[in-house]
Amino acid sequence: MHICCAPDATVPVVRLRAKGYEPVGFFYDPNIQPKEEYDLRLDQARKLACIEGFELIVGPYEPERWLAVTREFRDEPEGGLRCPLCLGLLLDAAAQRAAELQMPMFTTTLLISPHKDVHLLEQVGREKGALYGVTFLPEAFRKQDGFRESVRLSKEYGLYRQNYCGCIYSRIESEKWRAAHPHGSSWSQEEQKKDTSGEATSRG
Ligand code: SF4
Repeated sequence: MHICCAPDATVPVVRLRAKGYEPVGFFYDPNIQPKEEYDLRLDQARKLACIEGFELIVGPYEPERWLAVTREFRDEPEGGLRCPLCLGLLLDAAAQRAAELQMPMFTTTLLISPHKDVHLLEQVGREKGALYGVTFLPEAFRKQDGFRESVRLSKEYGLYRQNYCGCIYSRIESEKWRAAHPHGSSWSQEEQKKDTSGEATSRG
């Protein structure tokens, strides 16, 4: 189970277990910048792994590789042409690691985020799975109030919830938005209005 951040992993762990799977977490997120933010999100993933009692594998932090893959689209907004390349890098690593561990399938906690294109994730997941001979599990974690439940569990566990997706470009975009709305709600709170959950969101 590729983990983008601890809040987004809360519900997937529970739901996968309810289906009879025992997930192994894989934290591979070279998109997260700066390093302090990466360290914080990794620390929170470790905290959740302790709380829930699942194994957590940590992939290498290689932001240079991520920057090289996405550089051409650095001026794209969140949700634009940069994101498929980013997600492809993450899911490629997850599929490869699943194959190395001889696991029959893999998935990603990104599927719970209301900010991510589920169809894109499913397409990329299937392509990467086919490359390495593992099945992508397109679990609709956000359904049945999954996202709202992840917010609740994150609060209960005291998990840090970020207010930008992860890359330095999304951070700049978020900061610009907040500068333009000094008296308004935060970027994430504003984004939540697009959600059905009505809860502030982590930006995994
Ligand atoms: S906005 Fe998020 S998904 Fe898109 S490139 Fe940045 S980190 Fe990746």
